[in-house]
Amino acid sequence: MSSKAFVLAEKPSVARELAKVLGARSSQKGYIEGDSYVVSWALGHLVELAEPAHYADAFRRWSLSSLPMLPSKLEQMVMEGTKEQFEIIATLLKRKDISTLIIATDAGREGELVARWIIKKAGWNKEIKRLWISSQTKSAIEEGFAHLQDASLYEGLYRAGEARSAADWYVGMNVTRALTCRYDAKLSAGRVQTPTLALITSKEDEREAFLGSSYWTIRANFGLFSASVYEGEEVMKIESEETSKEIVSLLENNSALISSIETNERKEEPPLAYDLTELQRDANTILSFSAKETLDVLQKLYEVHKIVSYPRTDSRYITKDIVPTIPSRLRALSHTEFGQVTDMYVKDGYREDLGRFVVESKVTDHHAIIPTEQPVVLSRLNEKEKALWSLIALRFIQVLSKDYVYDSTLITLSCDSFTLKSRSVVKKQNGWRDIIAFAPDDIKKSEVLDDALDDGLIGSLTEGSKLPIGKVRAKKVNITPPLRYTEATLLSAMEHAGRFVEDSEIKKDLKGGIGTPATRAEIIEKLISNHYIEREGRYLVPTPYGRELVRLAPDMLQSPELTGIWEKRLTAISEGEDSYDVFISDIKEKTKELVRTIKLSNESFSPSFEGAKKCPHCKSDMMKNIDELGRVHNLCLSLSCSYEEVETKKLKKEAITAPVVKMKTVATATSGQTKKVIVKKKAVKHREEDYETVIEVVRQSKLQFRKESFK
Ligand SMILES: [Zn+2]
Repeated sequence: MSSKAFVLAEKPSVARELAKVLGARSSQKGYIEGDSYVVSWALGHLVELAEPAHYADAFRRWSLSSLPMLPSKLEQMVMEGTKEQFEIIATLLKRKDISTLIIATDAGREGELVARWIIKKAGWNKEIKRLWISSQTKSAIEEGFAHLQDASLYEGLYRAGEARSAADWYVGMNVTRALTCRYDAKLSAGRVQTPTLALITSKEDEREAFLGSSYWTIRANFGLFSASVYEGEEVMKIESEETSKEIVSLLENNSALISSIETNERKEEPPLAYDLTELQRDANTILSFSAKETLDVLQKLYEVHKIVSYPRTDSRYITKDIVPTIPSRLRALSHTEFGQVTDMYVKDGYREDLGRFVVESKVTDHHAIIPTEQPVVLSRLNEKEKALWSLIALRFIQVLSKDYVYDSTLITLSCDSFTLKSRSVVKKQNGWRDIIAFAPDDIKKSEVLDDALDDGLIGSLTEGSKLPIGKVRAKKVNITPPLRYTEATLLSAMEHAGRFVEDSEIKKDLKGGIGTPATRAEIIEKLISNHYIEREGRYLVPTPYGRELVRLAPDMLQSPELTGIWEKRLTAISEGEDSYDVFISDIKEKTKELVRTIKLSNESFSPSFEGAKKCPHCKSDMMKNIDELGRVHNLCLSLSCSYEEVETKKLKKEAITAPVVKMKTVATATSGQTKKVIVKKKAVKHREEDYETVIEVVRQSKLQFRKESFK
């Protein structure tokens, strides 16, 4: 009997691709088999940490007295919903002819954890190898299998994954129960979720505290150009309208002396390639994609079309070994709107100095998101895929383009006691800024260029000469309250969480920000599904419920400091520079402190909903919810009451986003004071690929279920 290798992919679609390349063709239930390989798949996590009740009977009931729950060692359990797939894998791993296991899950911290827990639970103890690839093209897969890594190299990543999940368990389970029991309201908190929500609510606080005001600025027309009145280095802000009118009448039809004309050549280097967060930001601003949508579409471009490299990266750089592949990556874009430029770059060469972009030390697990060598066939992409791909291709070509070079001219004039300044630019080499002309229209219009000045004009002006002033205008500028976060600006805020911290030492530690690039989209979606925030057009608006949660959550959990430091320590654990045990014991200490703070609080839960319905039983405010069938639910926010009414009026069918296909999943969840709630959740199932999504929907539904019956 010849021996075979077992390949474990993260999901079915990826498994099918791997099987194709490995020549495995025989499709079985839950796996695909060939002469040398057996390929199977997880569906995201198949194994998770056991619920509190697993550790002690006292934890079965939600109560303040049983907190904090700090089992010394957390245990893994096979997840109920996907048990069948786990059993298939476990059975295959017992086969005598399978001698090696190859981990081929997502090449990152979470993917490592998905595989290791399955392996652990299935009791495998033979050889383990790791497939680590940054693109899904046939050649990259073949290359990856030809150079399989020893799994021991990824031990640190596995430890970091375990530390991440344990930290989330200790903090999330305890704080959620503490808040819920203490305030008699369904309040869930988490290590990453709560500080993110706090960013959003504090912006709302700032807006409410904002007092509107306005000022005036003055601009004078000189025919050939116009200039603004300055005070030092900045445009003068005049507080009263009267004063502004006086200045206008003093300047108008007067003349001004040119005191200086300075021209300097300026260079603007191309931007760096995309990492996930930057791409999510741009896609939100330019294409109005949510962070989650960007990640989903990107995943398709990576897995199905194979035309971009690994998505969940936090690097904006490439390594030296990628440089020789640049021409073939450009050739792959030949039959697209960028073909004219890329063909030229292949033939005549592109930017020589790529030093900024090729930085070995700034690539850890994966390089920046760039096109692969797989030729792009635009007709195979849907509209969203094409739009997102265009951003990536555009950025890649820009990175390879020359600097934008221009002359910047500053003309300074004086009249009476006033100084006027005019800035203008004369383009000399558009360089990377030219590339956008090839992009689709929606991307093109996002580009804002400076005002250009005719080159000949400046030559006609001389220092010391006088120019007549024409029309002078005062412009009223209203100071607006700080804008709410969009997904784009929230992603920045999460990434640069250090900005909100005063201590400079901690600031340095917070470089990693809140959450990881791979999880930020999920956090935003979770806040929405928990009804802590809502989308209003492009903006994210906290609900009274969310604001109340932040008011009641311990300060320590809201500040980006703690979570940022934890995130940094997780990275250190994956690099073998911090210890799992020390980290977890610190987490337990902090959990104790968090629970103690909540227990001692004298506050009470009282969100203020404008025009909210009052609960007929306990007179608490009721919160409005819309379910997947478009029905409006009014939920009493007092947990011990939990009264709910369903309005008979349904929303229009179109308002419901996904078609509901029959797939009943029954889950049980324990809510509040030991009431057993049976949840029936209809989930959406289109194709097999979406199975993971369905599972996720059901899993999350534990927190947003609708009562069907009590037992
Ligand atoms: Zn009530």
